[in-house]
Amino acid sequence: MKIFCIGRNYIDHAKELNNPVPSEPLIFMKPSTALLVNNKPFYHPDYSNNIHYEGEIVLRVCKNGRSIQPEFASRYYDAVAFGIDFTARDLQDKLKAKGQPWEIAKGFDRSAPISKFISLADLKNPKAIEFQLKKNGEVVQDGNTKDLIFSFDTIICHISRYFTLQTNDYIFTGTPAGVGPIAVGDVLDGFVEEVQMLHCQVK
Ligand code: MG
Repeated sequence: MKIFCIGRNYIDHAKELNNPVPSEPLIFMKPSTALLVNNKPFYHPDYSNNIHYEGEIVLRVCKNGRSIQPEFASRYYDAVAFGIDFTARDLQDKLKAKGQPWEIAKGFDRSAPISKFISLADLKNPKAIEFQLKKNGEVVQDGNTKDLIFSFDTIICHISRYFTLQTNDYIFTGTPAGVGPIAVGDVLDGFVEEVQMLHCQVK
């Protein structure tokens, strides 16, 4: 399975990190060893002093396809989860400054906690999915997929130009504003349409 991620897909988040708003989807990947499931704790690694949470809606791919055309894109995903795209911001800033790839800042072990999936058919509003991340009980991110710069369908078309999508690939669709650092002892809770989906303790 593959894990795709889209960067800078909400205007308010691109701006908070002083990044330009992209003109096409910005794609990166995490290895399958980044997955952290079943609400297991996240053990803070020692190589970063500034790991950020990025709460995101994650799509599950349900059909193999390549070079998918816009009119068929919605047939290729069937469910969403709440995920956190943990990012070692200090490492990422150094790599970005040198124009080098991001892998170690984004794809390290357990950098992708993910909840169980819920079918799109079971959502109140699959075209405008509300989601929230709470840190230690306080809302730090409050997003809605209607504010995506690049829609789910556009992401599917764009990724599949370069990479064959396969059943059970995951796509992190981007984070809204409010990203910030984590510390040992923090508790992160992810909600989709006000239903708690993810619980992650930082140890
Ligand atoms: Mg992200």
